[in-house]
Amino acid sequence: MANRKESPPEVDELPSAQDFCLSVPLYKTFRFQNEKSNPFFSLEHFKGSLDIYCPECGRHSVFTLGQEAKYSDRSHYSNYVFSLWFRCSRDASHHAIFIFLAHKRVLQKIGQTPSLADISVPDVRKYRPVLGDERFREFTRGIGLATHGVGVGAFVYLRRVFEWLIENAHAAASAAPGWSEETYVSSRMEEKINLLKDHLPEFLVKNRGLYGILSVGIHALTEAECLSAFPAVRLAIELILDDLLEGHERQAKVKAAAKSLDALKTSIAKPGT
Ligand SMILES: [Zn+2]
Repeated sequence: MANRKESPPEVDELPSAQDFCLSVPLYKTFRFQNEKSNPFFSLEHFKGSLDIYCPECGRHSVFTLGQEAKYSDRSHYSNYVFSLWFRCSRDASHHAIFIFLAHKRVLQKIGQTPSLADISVPDVRKYRPVLGDERFREFTRGIGLATHGVGVGAFVYLRRVFEWLIENAHAAASAAPGWSEETYVSSRMEEKINLLKDHLPEFLVKNRGLYGILSVGIHALTEAECLSAFPAVRLAIELILDDLLEGHERQAKVKAAAKSLDALKTSIAKPGT
């Protein structure tokens, strides 16, 4: 394995305050220049608002900046802790708090509430009916791990969900005349996606090259490779789920329509009731 030690830059570019709060995993490190005055001024004195899911409201809300707390030795940024404290605009007792630590020229987010998973999971909750409880748990666990920067673990969960969805498409495709099970079984993931093209979203089939990584053994993949493949796999899963959800909702509507038609027929058959 190559040892990547080619003289790293002295400082890292800091993400925007919003990204730092809402996308950057905890403990990701950013080097800053101690000598420079106020190296993370724009984060510490952020004055904007956050539009996030409020777990207490149960829906999205705008959070505006409230009181802030600061501790420790500001002069040398040694164990210097500061926080951004937001309040839900719908109910001021709902808080969103982000805690940062600057120490030895490294800035990190060391805590937050609501967690990154609490913020991002509600957006995928709509898929629960098509995934079922067990797959839904795996899917959200994968997202939760990825938000904490755990690449391989997150990837394993997402891969399981993806393979389950592919297996569903396989079950539908194998009923078609001329289907060769032998060819399918001996194919790699990219080829399998192509064989199942009539049962999968077009985007996924077109970009099937992205999914070659799903044929690689987990032990052969690094944390970074898993984390970088994660968004493509998540996107594919959500595209398949969007299709399934559409079918699911159509079925529910057809069922409801049939039921009200039945009720109508009954009431017509028995006039006066
Ligand atoms: Zn709220």
